[in-house]
Amino acid sequence: MFRRTFALVTTALAVGAGVIAGAAPASAAPAPAPAAVVTLTYDDSLAAEFKSAVAQGAANWNASVTNVRLVKAASGQRVNIRVIADNGWPRATLGPVRPTGSGTVWFGREAVNDGYNVVRIITHEFGHSLGLPDRRTGLCSDLMSGSSAPVSCANALPNATERAQVQRNYASALVAQPARTTILVDAA
Ligand SMILES: [Zn+2]
Repeated sequence: MFRRTFALVTTALAVGAGVIAGAAPASAAPAPAPAAVVTLTYDDSLAAEFKSAVAQGAANWNASVTNVRLVKAASGQRVNIRVIADNGWPRATLGPVRPTGSGTVWFGREAVNDGYNVVRIITHEFGHSLGLPDRRTGLCSDLMSGSSAPVSCANALPNATERAQVQRNYASALVAQPARTTILVDAA
């Protein structure tokens, strides 16, 4: 048990301080080795009127997946995802963002002014940060269908397929962040 825990911590240290070891199992029952949880920080200091929506979007992901967590950056802490309110369409750099990397989400008011749900918008954009592309299926049950779903759609939770993809994206702390920056624009 000690040997396995030691190996896990060594791995975490090797890939950067942003990766923390998962909690050890409470019992000795047979179980898979605890996965390393990837922690990504976000900064909402430029998110203007959307700060509470940003917090809810992060909470939605934290309730949906276990391999990665989105936490608000403390003062002076390295920021992985910057959330910036502006007057364009919502858009984001495509991840998966790594603890040693960074990405940006623009909380565009164009979609808000058109009536789209603000928590769905930011949870969708965080989905891009976590490595999910757009899938414009038109279905409200799909988070990554974005503005192809009806304006009235208030679903702000990823579906099972979307959750599983993010779990895979963060199953290993060693997965590289894309070297090229791709910005996905969510125009209606
Ligand atoms: Zn999108």
